[in-house]
Amino acid sequence: MDDCIFCKIAAHEIPSTVVYEDDLVMAFDDLNPQAPVHTLVIPKQHYANIVDGVPAETLAAMTHAIQEVAKAKGLDDGFRVIANTGAAAGQTVMHFHMHVLGGKDLGENLL
Ligand code: IMP
Repeated sequence: MDDCIFCKIAAHEIPSTVVYEDDLVMAFDDLNPQAPVHTLVIPKQHYANIVDGVPAETLAAMTHAIQEVAKAKGLDDGFRVIANTGAAAGQTVMHFHMHVLGGKDLGENLL
């Protein structure tokens, strides 16, 4: 996708603070953090959201990346994973991503 910002981050055309990367996925810190730890996990391939035909292998790689983020960021007490899906849910970047939030008591706040 030519004008997709997360495709450009995945291709290292736009700089980001990379937390984890492998052939299928990348994890990088959110530009506008909503918690002390706020990292995004994306597939390198473009999918609009979690229900856009994402292969099981890619979903497994994203789960692995979440584990690596939790380890790297020391989220031993727990963390939250959110995938806003569609504009009505607040999705603003239409390249599938999971938010990994932690580093404080998140209480019942949604994001
Ligand atoms: P959404 O609202 O679930 O689509 O989340 C999009 C997230 O991407 C927001 O938390 C933004 O702060 C974040 N974001 C947008 N552009 C960039 C960027 O260039 N680098 C890192 N994070 C970004």
